[in-house]
Amino acid sequence: MRPRVLVIEDNRLNLELVTDLLEAGGYIVDQARTAEEGLHMAHEALPDVILMDLSLPGMDGLAATKALRADPATGHLPVIALTAHAMMGDEKAALIAGCDGYMAKPIDTRTFAASVAGFMALANLHRTKKEAAN
Ligand code: MN
Repeated sequence: MRPRVLVIEDNRLNLELVTDLLEAGGYIVDQARTAEEGLHMAHEALPDVILMDLSLPGMDGLAATKALRADPATGHLPVIALTAHAMMGDEKAALIAGCDGYMAKPIDTRTFAASVAGFMALANLHRTKKEAAN
């Protein structure tokens, strides 16, 4: 089955680029332009992975990730942060907020879809291990 990915990104060009790369990589892509819209869609679609731009108008990506984690319906979904600010502080903040991984923009178009698959596999492996330990 093709994995479903929800991309939450307010920049139209980035959103189209990421969507094209993921669709070429075999994903079904849902798009959201705001955190609020993304949270709603995450609930509806329960995607296999969420790509979260950290810099969004209104609610930002960190707050949206915390909201996803706090909700039992969406708390288990893998979230990968996307940010233009390739700084250690942002990576740390993303992980503290509950993101499973972090990708800096501009993205590497050659490896993007494979990187998403790698993050998704790793996040699912960690969850399986955690569940086994409980
Ligand atoms: Mn943005």
